[in-house]
Amino acid sequence: MKSRTIVIEENGGPEKLRLVDMEAGEPGPGEIRIRHGACGLNFIDVYQRTGLYKMDLPHALGMEAAGTIEAVGEGVTHLKPGDRAAYACHPAGAYCEARVMPAGQVCKMPDEIDFETGAAMMLQGMTVQYLFHRTTPISEGSRVLFHAAAGGVGQIACQWAKSEGVELIGTAGTDEKCAMALEAGAAHCINYKTEDFVARVREITDGEGVDVVMDGVGADTFERSLDCLKPLGFMISFGNASGPVPPVNLLTLAAKGSLKLTRCSLFTHIARPEDCQAMARHVMDKVSSGAVKIHIGQRYPLEQIAEAHRALEARETTGSTIITL
Ligand code: NDP
Repeated sequence: MKSRTIVIEENGGPEKLRLVDMEAGEPGPGEIRIRHGACGLNFIDVYQRTGLYKMDLPHALGMEAAGTIEAVGEGVTHLKPGDRAAYACHPAGAYCEARVMPAGQVCKMPDEIDFETGAAMMLQGMTVQYLFHRTTPISEGSRVLFHAAAGGVGQIACQWAKSEGVELIGTAGTDEKCAMALEAGAAHCINYKTEDFVARVREITDGEGVDVVMDGVGADTFERSLDCLKPLGFMISFGNASGPVPPVNLLTLAAKGSLKLTRCSLFTHIARPEDCQAMARHVMDKVSSGAVKIHIGQRYPLEQIAEAHRALEARETTGSTIITL
């Protein structure tokens, strides 16, 4: 059975994304075949396309999708044909109509969550889950600075923070995006193109600084983010939208108040299937309960995947982006 699939043969710009017909195949032991209802778009897809994150080429692209299980291989017990399911995991290859893949990180999805929402929420939602619950001891009343708060991860983080009683100070690149972050639940939002975000964070926190910074922007914000933290504060660097963070002088962390620093990845947290399934359930519960609403800002058909990548890199998207089939 043929499946239209996006592949890259070499690293480069969006023009390297090619639509080909591939054989979906039959699931072997521990595998499933899933027919996608929708696929998700994430910044990691850009890093894999450009070569910032290395992969053997040629390779299919895309890390996230939702759909219907068509067949299961020997030993798969948590899924059966006809189940609705979603995933965000390696190996890349989710930009396609149907595929065979390992079952461990594929998660059953409740009926009330549609495929587009499922495809939009898994990677970004599980990221927010581990940032808030598996990375730092933040709790009700904590103050968090979150960069790119109107983006895919960002808008979920704003709502998640509000639902947990965490005061989230967002940043975003336009006033319209700031309005979206506030609407999603940010307590404050700073336009970091027109305002000095360090000074504004100090002002908002009466000079104290925040407990935690969550920084997916990277090169452009890392250094100044350290100046937004309280003594003993926690710097979480989790992305490179503006480019990778240059090497860090550890003495800087001492000088700025014995700061803690991590550079984390979702894929460490979901490596054990039982952890992945529990994290996905937590995200699905947040969505099913209405505490988190997934904002799909734009949709592109599979044939226009290059345009979707261009828009994400050009900071033109808000919320999550869906690839339709
Ligand atoms: P977003 O929807 O947040 O898009 C990226 C946003 O970053 C842009 O919209 C833009 O918002 C901001 N940005 C700032 N500077 C730049 C720049 N020079 N070029 C492009 N964008 C810039 O993307 P995602 O929600 O998919 O991901 C957000 C971040 O989180 C990414 O860095 C991603 O890699 C990371 N991530 C990390 C994970 C992990 O486990 N480590 C897992 C998931 C995501 P604005 O205009 O408001 O500045």
